[in-house]
Amino acid sequence: MQFYTDVHMTRVLSIFEFQKHFATEDKCFDHLVAVRWPDGFKCPKYNHSGAYIIKARKLFQCKSCKHQTSVTAGTCFHRLRQPLRLLFWAVYLVATNKKGISALELQRKLDIRSYQTAWTLLHKIRSGMTSSCLFLLSGDVEVDETYIGGSRSGSTGRGADNKQLVAVAVEKLGKKMGRNYFQHASKDELGAFVKEYVTKRSSVITDGFPSYKHLKDEYNLDQKKLYSPERAMELLPNVHIVITNTKAWLRGTFNRYPAPKHLKRYLNEFEFRFNRRWKLDNIFDKLLNRCLLTNNITYAELTG
Ligand SMILES: [Zn+2]
Repeated sequence: MQFYTDVHMTRVLSIFEFQKHFATEDKCFDHLVAVRWPDGFKCPKYNHSGAYIIKARKLFQCKSCKHQTSVTAGTCFHRLRQPLRLLFWAVYLVATNKKGISALELQRKLDIRSYQTAWTLLHKIRSGMTSSCLFLLSGDVEVDETYIGGSRSGSTGRGADNKQLVAVAVEKLGKKMGRNYFQHASKDELGAFVKEYVTKRSSVITDGFPSYKHLKDEYNLDQKKLYSPERAMELLPNVHIVITNTKAWLRGTFNRYPAPKHLKRYLNEFEFRFNRRWKLDNIFDKLLNRCLLTNNITYAELTG
């Protein structure tokens, strides 16, 4: 069978266009199939090509091994009970809202009965925002670490409630910024963070933490002495702008810092938006595609 969709998204669709293109469950279904299998059905079990479609149940049966599957099976939307139209709107709102959306706002906008459903759906979409890490940072890269979380804004360091040490790296492109990455890290893991996210032989500009020292064999390491916050802002301006913006975004959009076990998914979301801020053309399809490539995460797993 042939899969097709009449929607070719080369730019951000307006709300009117989006509503028109995805007006029915069938239109959403066809589009989901086209995004998941752009070159035609691929059997998830043995990678066979070709399937019969069981229309009434929206299931695909592999022509070779008879394995039955749905378009969302094995993805982060696995066994989701909500209509596809609601799912499409949720992905559209998350992808196109410049500052993201809270679970409460998503619940109100899409008239979702329970807050828990909206919260879980949002975390599923957020897990699709995890970076593929195919593009490591290179050139001049500023690296620093910060504590995120906790209810008391003034307290920092190990003693503070729920505060997580987060390593941050940002590419410096002349007067502009390139891509960025975050990672939870202990003080001893900061060097490993750089090795994971920054191309070897790049210039790494950072502070005097001892755990960066061993990077000097593989990177052009420039460890600055930061005597005060003002001096840190002056010597590592880009990474500090990213840190300030991340904290302001968490407080502004969600009213509080996320619990430590959820923080990485929020940082993934910030990273996703930041690294695509100049490439918004088909952001809905990109996020939908990422969600289809991401394993399911359930409410029990999120809260366990
Ligand atoms: Zn098969």
